[in-house]
Amino acid sequence: MALPPLVEPAAELSIDEIRRYSRHLIIPDVGMDGQKRLKNAKVLAVGAGGLGSPALLYLAAAGVGTLGIIDFDTVDESNLQRQVIHGVSDVGRPKAESAADSIREINPLVNVVIHNTTLDRDNVMEIFSQYDLIVDGTDNFATRYMVNDAAVLLGKPYVWGSIYRFDGQASVFWAENGPCYRCLYPEPPPPGMVPSCAEGGVLGVLCASIGSIQVNEAIKLITGIGEPLVGKLMVYDALEMEYRKIRVRKDPNCVLCGENPTLTELMEDYDDFCGAISAEAEEAIANSTITARELKDWQDAGKDLFLVDVREPAEWEINRIPGATLIPKGEILSGEALSRFPQDRQIVLHCKSGVRSAEALAALKAAGFKDAVHVQGGIVSWVNTVDPSLPSY
Ligand SMILES: [Zn+2]
Repeated sequence: MALPPLVEPAAELSIDEIRRYSRHLIIPDVGMDGQKRLKNAKVLAVGAGGLGSPALLYLAAAGVGTLGIIDFDTVDESNLQRQVIHGVSDVGRPKAESAADSIREINPLVNVVIHNTTLDRDNVMEIFSQYDLIVDGTDNFATRYMVNDAAVLLGKPYVWGSIYRFDGQASVFWAENGPCYRCLYPEPPPPGMVPSCAEGGVLGVLCASIGSIQVNEAIKLITGIGEPLVGKLMVYDALEMEYRKIRVRKDPNCVLCGENPTLTELMEDYDDFCGAISAEAEEAIANSTITARELKDWQDAGKDLFLVDVREPAEWEINRIPGATLIPKGEILSGEALSRFPQDRQIVLHCKSGVRSAEALAALKAAGFKDAVHVQGGIVSWVNTVDPSLPSY
């Protein structure tokens, strides 16, 4: 499906611009009109890492008039294997600033806007609203869902890409003309199921393969040429050297862009939604984690346990582990419920999947309950391994 150009053309190109972009200008489909649209376009790259690096280089070279870069991270030596917008002398510098310098070197006609900050639910709407198009190069699910939700709520298209080892994917999500990311992936994968590039590795050149597809789609959207990847998922296998295009339909039941959306503003906590846990929680659960089966063994052995369910009352209504006491996570984090915890009994925390209980465990340990533990996989694991007769949700 061809779509009209996303951006109005600029009034004119200067003599310098005509010289610089001559190889675009002589392509009939791009021409003067297309180049003027690129000049007028405002594109934001979320992340100046693996995908953002090649994407920003080519967006700049192509003559996109305004390029925003949002990244809070600094350049590390281990980035240089694939993040080609940064060099040796940039190690230790903010990525957004390093990327901006490279862009100015390639094309000083580009207006570069640096957002040297973390994209979060408090700034995402305001930052996105300044751009025509977003190029998403994020590497974590929490940010990915937030980028999608903000783009859909603002009615903006975005070009998505993802990379892992030898496999890459790319698509254009634009709820007004096709599906959104939630139509494709309604739920994030369970925590720990999909390793990040930092854990699993990525072939450096894969970033260029997928990043260049993203720029290709950005140029098509801006200028209104060709068939954008709206409603299509491009799947690339670098080992087989194979590109496959998979059709993705808009989900009428999508919570965000479906017929009866229930998500009408940004979520409260994307980390919680995606099961990401903080460094403190990570530290707290090390050597303080038991399985659902071990909990059952402790109960059967008559161990004196104070078993605490840190979920919300509505979840407690659905199912519960026998012997548990309900104390929602918020009351532990605020300190409000700390007086209810005994000093002389074994404290065991659980939630639905083990994310909230890990956060609560960090708070309890910080309050001095050093021997407290939590249940890996939460009540979901209890249902799966101990008591399949319980209802699940
Ligand atoms: Zn959707």
